[in-house]
Amino acid sequence: MLMDKYKKIISRIYDSVSAIPPRGKIADYIPALAQVAPGSYGIAIALPDGRTDGVGHWHTKFSIQSISKVFTLAMVMRHMGSSLWQYVGREPSGSPFNSLVQLEHEHGIPRNPFINAGALVVTDRLIGLYDRPKEAILSFVRSVAGSDDIYFDKTVARSEYEHASRNLALAHFMKSFGNINGSVDTLIDVYCNQCSIAMSCEELARSFLFLTDRGINPFDGERILSVSRAKRLSALMLTCGFYDESGDFAFRVGLPGKSGVGGGIVAFIPGRLSIAVWSPELNEYGNSVRGIDTLERFTTDLGISIF
Ligand code: GLU
Repeated sequence: MLMDKYKKIISRIYDSVSAIPPRGKIADYIPALAQVAPGSYGIAIALPDGRTDGVGHWHTKFSIQSISKVFTLAMVMRHMGSSLWQYVGREPSGSPFNSLVQLEHEHGIPRNPFINAGALVVTDRLIGLYDRPKEAILSFVRSVAGSDDIYFDKTVARSEYEHASRNLALAHFMKSFGNINGSVDTLIDVYCNQCSIAMSCEELARSFLFLTDRGINPFDGERILSVSRAKRLSALMLTCGFYDESGDFAFRVGLPGKSGVGGGIVAFIPGRLSIAVWSPELNEYGNSVRGIDTLERFTTDLGISIF
């Protein structure tokens, strides 16, 4: 019943958004990302019981990029209590996702875990927690998505590693402030791999159901995060999930969400549903133009957000 209603809404949105030629630009600063088909567009919805439906390219896998930062943060929050927040802040950054400038003023402590510097600190702590960090990340994502068919895209990982000067600079800079514990090379290797994970809209929507349900993985009943940590992670998505467009996303859409430069966006309505959109053309902030448009129309047509 409910799914029928959601499906009608997303089908209508899909038709009207598809009729407008995609604006924006496909990311090419990581060359392998530029290989996607322009105009790709998919939407998927997942319900708390794991059922899914969607429209367009909702089964096509794409590079999740920064959406992976939510998974690694969840993994680290499981193990580290409040001590994590000495090393990474919880405020919107108001600057681009890969900015170096703010770090200098703020003594190597990144503003939040979703800008690149913050995500690098989180991945550095993750490497300290797991013997085989890449395998651990993959197995975490597979478990929350309820699917084993999720892999690193080695071509994207290699391409990002070969063009990682900016992320290397961020990591070395933070290491000079004592805020990176391990080897920078290992860190960048793990980070490029986590960003390269390929998932479809359907898999992404499913993989955020654990946050929709306040920390419980619906696929095996395991508690991933306490209610309080799930609240904190969701709040960070609302305030910091879209770089320096986070305020505008909250204003227009009214949901916690996270974007990636592969053109994916995932968002959720607590207790009700999780929704993923993919369209690779990005705006100047690095967020999918159609993705934001779709989600704004969705909460408007549905009349439900978190507010
Ligand atoms: N792998 C990308 C980078 O570090 C992630 C950025 C993003 O998706 O916003 O540049």
